[in-house]
Amino acid sequence: MPIIIDAHADLAYNMLKYGRDYSRSAAETRLLEVGSPTVADNEDCTIGWPDYQRGQTAVVFSTLFALPARWRTSQNKLQSYKTFDQAHEIYRQQLMTYHRMTDSEPDKFRLVASSRDLDLILDHWNSPTESGHPVGMVVLMEGAECIRTLSELDEWYELGVRLIGPAWVGTRYCGGWKEPGPLTKDGRELLSGMADHNFVLDLSHMDEQAAVEALDMYRGPIVGTHGNCLSLMPNSNSNRHFSDRIIEGIIERDGVVGVVPYNAYLKSGWTVDKNQRSEVPLSYVADHIDHICQIAGDALHAGIGSDFDGGFGLQSVPPEIDTIADLQKLVSLLGARGYSETDIANIFSGNWLARLKRDLPSS
Ligand SMILES: [Zn+2]
Repeated sequence: MPIIIDAHADLAYNMLKYGRDYSRSAAETRLLEVGSPTVADNEDCTIGWPDYQRGQTAVVFSTLFALPARWRTSQNKLQSYKTFDQAHEIYRQQLMTYHRMTDSEPDKFRLVASSRDLDLILDHWNSPTESGHPVGMVVLMEGAECIRTLSELDEWYELGVRLIGPAWVGTRYCGGWKEPGPLTKDGRELLSGMADHNFVLDLSHMDEQAAVEALDMYRGPIVGTHGNCLSLMPNSNSNRHFSDRIIEGIIERDGVVGVVPYNAYLKSGWTVDKNQRSEVPLSYVADHIDHICQIAGDALHAGIGSDFDGGFGLQSVPPEIDTIADLQKLVSLLGARGYSETDIANIFSGNWLARLKRDLPSS
């Protein structure tokens, strides 16, 4: 089984908002949450350390994310913000949650902030063990309104943040999902400051206009951790997907695009209330991976960014998937389309690894 790097999971958000404990398996978490508001809000859990082990998920881009209060839809008011100060407090709390979790259970989770950290994790996964392997966590900031002034970039970097996506919906920095627009003056300054630290820029959730400007002006590395192909989502009318122009831009910068196995991002108009899971087979995920590879002319720029438990769960993923471990079923789907073992290993982890090895500090 090839190793997987999953470029997107809102672990801390789930831990602090719903009390999820990711040292448990998804199956255990589901049992504990039967009939709870968490399931009504975020559906059934699909990730957990035992599932990461079964599916060979060695590294997860673990997010810092809070909901702008104006977009809150559930009764649960936790982990949402109205002011930049509140955003700062929540994001900081989430980052400290990762520090505590990796300090207290280093056999299960470890922070990855340097290429040395990354090598140690990979060495562990490549050596036989009976007790399992630690999952490496690369910290990704999703939505940047917690950065109140540019001078705070130093501290976020010191504490281990390595990737930043300036948008979720629109932010003070740029247009985003559901709230389109360009980079703002603050946004252009943020990008200059980020480049000084070699932060990886995540174009996910950025509006097309802002993303085009960022591709033009950002001096550091660029990726899209979790987003699908707009051209395979006809009539979706959402700026949440990447246009071919943005995918081409990421490829030109030698970046990677992580495909999201979320039914609503795989079939236009699919909703959990009206549609069946069976309408969106896992082969749709292979279609999006293939589209990126066709644009690139190779298998060196597609990856996985599951976003599992990020606002959806078991009820909204392809029917072949029960937990993240089932992403391994993509091996045969890609193989059947002519992808070699090496191609598949690159898509599953090699492409993200190559990017991380270049972008993380050595120690
Ligand atoms: Zn997201």
